[in-house]
Amino acid sequence: MSPDTPSSIRLADDEVPPVLEENDAGTSPFLFTCDHFGRLIPRALGQLGLPIDELTRHIAWDIGIAGVATTLARTMNAHLIAQRYSRLVIDCNRPPQAPSSIPMISEATTVPGNEGLTHEAADARRALFFDPYHRRIDEVIDQRLRDGRPTILVSLHSFTPVYAGIARPWHVGTLYHRDVRLPPLLLQLLRAEGDLVVGDNEPYAVSDATDYTIPVHGEQRGLMNTGIEIRQDLIADPSGQQQWAERLARILTEVEVVFGAERLPLV
Ligand SMILES: [Zn+2]
Repeated sequence: MSPDTPSSIRLADDEVPPVLEENDAGTSPFLFTCDHFGRLIPRALGQLGLPIDELTRHIAWDIGIAGVATTLARTMNAHLIAQRYSRLVIDCNRPPQAPSSIPMISEATTVPGNEGLTHEAADARRALFFDPYHRRIDEVIDQRLRDGRPTILVSLHSFTPVYAGIARPWHVGTLYHRDVRLPPLLLQLLRAEGDLVVGDNEPYAVSDATDYTIPVHGEQRGLMNTGIEIRQDLIADPSGQQQWAERLARILTEVEVVFGAERLPLV
């Protein structure tokens, strides 16, 4: 497969835009983002040189999180901003200058369509997928701040139960860096559930070099923030997605009550 050229990755008229929003008039203080919501590949990129079974596994998207995020946003009357195209096209949670932004290898899979990309071709993917998504998150946060609305950023992800042959014991994890307010409370509430193995910055930790959404939209904007990672085998089907959405809605509602009682400023 030959590398794309900038002009070859325009979306066709019948291809959906990258940004998906749910409940944009939601009144909850929680603002949900979902960087790895979808696994679409623009037709102009073919299948990135991969067989379909590679494009349906975790390297292409966060399996199960779309159902959780959508139901959670509806249940909590919260705004969700999500990105529909595959992280193999461009990863919306990586700084564009990071080598893993447009991965040439993901886990053990080489991505032929990402080899030998020119700067122009990489920039074109950024302009088409990454920029509109992050611009929209920026706009929504700007508007909420202008309106004086409490805003807590929660970035929703899922992780594969086995990575590079290593099984992961956690059911759910909180991911954070500089926010010392929300993550400890969320950890405490998740552990109080009693039936969960809870990761504290596991299976990943947030950093400026390897993440984008939390550092840029949460930390740099001074919003309370956390990432939540759910293990994919727990949310592989609609009933698991529903159960996890209900559980998180209950827990995040408790977070809101605790912060409300402490009169903690949410902006
Ligand atoms: Zn993810």
